[in-house]
Amino acid sequence: MTAMHTKTIAQLSAALHRGEVSSVELTTLFLERIKAHNPTLNCFITMTEAQALAAAAAADRRLKAGDGAPLTGVPIAHKDIFCTAGVKTTCASKMLDNFIAPYESTCTAKFIEAGAVMLGKTNMDEFAMGSSNETSYYGAVKNPWDLERVPGGSSGGSVSAVAARLAPAATGTDTGGSIRQPAALCGLTGLKPTYGRVSRFGMIAFASSLDQAGPITYSAEDAALLMNVMAGFDERDSTSVDCEVPDYSANLDNSIEGLKIGLPKEYFDGGLDDRVARVIDAAVKEYEALGAVVKEISLSNTALAVPTYYVVAPAECSTNLSRFDGVRFGHRCDDPQDLFDLYTRSRGEGFGAEVKRRIMIGTYVLSAGYYDAYYLKAQKIRRLISDDFRTAFETVDVIMGPTAPTTAFKLGEKADDPVTMYLSDIYTIAVNMAGLPAASIPAGFADGLPVGLQLIGNYFDESRLLNVAHKYQQATDWHLQVPTAFK
Ligand code: GLN
Repeated sequence: MTAMHTKTIAQLSAALHRGEVSSVELTTLFLERIKAHNPTLNCFITMTEAQALAAAAAADRRLKAGDGAPLTGVPIAHKDIFCTAGVKTTCASKMLDNFIAPYESTCTAKFIEAGAVMLGKTNMDEFAMGSSNETSYYGAVKNPWDLERVPGGSSGGSVSAVAARLAPAATGTDTGGSIRQPAALCGLTGLKPTYGRVSRFGMIAFASSLDQAGPITYSAEDAALLMNVMAGFDERDSTSVDCEVPDYSANLDNSIEGLKIGLPKEYFDGGLDDRVARVIDAAVKEYEALGAVVKEISLSNTALAVPTYYVVAPAECSTNLSRFDGVRFGHRCDDPQDLFDLYTRSRGEGFGAEVKRRIMIGTYVLSAGYYDAYYLKAQKIRRLISDDFRTAFETVDVIMGPTAPTTAFKLGEKADDPVTMYLSDIYTIAVNMAGLPAASIPAGFADGLPVGLQLIGNYFDESRLLNVAHKYQQATDWHLQVPTAFK
């Protein structure tokens, strides 16, 4: 059992299949680690101990009978945005503090089918709105690399848990950067698949045209193993795409000799921290050493991505969150006087400040008289942003740059300044607007804090992104670094 908690999923899977360790032993180890460290990190909202041990025992029987799949018996954590039948599902909101999901999301159901063991539900920004995990009703999450800093958001609990080796992998969701930015800030590999690649059924909606679930792992090799489970068409999600799912593990070792990498000049401008820029430059040099060819490209509408997103995402969120009214779903106020009182007090008490801000912006931009000026305009700019990528992919295979402009910031540092906070997703948001796949991989450190390299791919080109990430991870070991306090 020595250092089992620092092993990758690929290593754990091999150990389970060889019978070197049982799923019950592994699950117990991680549950103990969660109990020891969660009081400090606050990365789990719910621990599902009894359920995990029962699932682990079932996985051990399956492995013994010789019908284990790659993830059978492997413990993982799920972001508390996925409905998990019979388990509290809060989206980190007071609104859903008492919500026990009556059904299972497709994504988590696929993990159950594969025999993976859910350790618990991870903390996040409320309704996935945030970049620091400070908007959670259950309190802020700490970054295992520096407990005074944020882990990033909104999948902050998932990355904090994986970085601290309390779970060997976790799920996340990414509407504007919520897998990639926290993965970058905590030194992990995170993949946001192409929009439509992973089912959104049972994933609590924030902005439906942008939301997409993906894996958070140590390595690209592990991300491929999770994608093999998560990806695929689902008739219960009308936006899920019915096209073949490749074996994401099959092409990891392909040569990247001659790979054409585009560096968007807009991603290296004044807003980028110098120390982060130096790490990214070194990573690009490493790719050149591996045989890739680098050229400068332009994504000319980059500066419009954040303002456009903050029209589109709030518009969709104001619509999606209208279901939380104290009647159909969610917290209900005490002693309502009439229907109006019931709606206003239930929503007033149930939602936190950031969610209210988004609902108000969204309602405003959709209202008669402002729709054309804001919402329609934003949709047009969204097209221009997608076109920039389309043009770029005519001459390059992969786009690279920083995932975030800075390393992890201090808790509280940006909490009262929403615009500065919104800008931490400046390099990730356009990817969601275009619906493209992108990953963040660990590329080094700046003053002891992890830096993420973003790889953006063409539609449904996740296999190539994982291949390109894997080759780098074979030549470097940034992705295997463990924060000292959690070794
Ligand atoms: N940080 C962005 C926001 O606050 C993106 C969040 C996300 O991807 N869920 O909306």
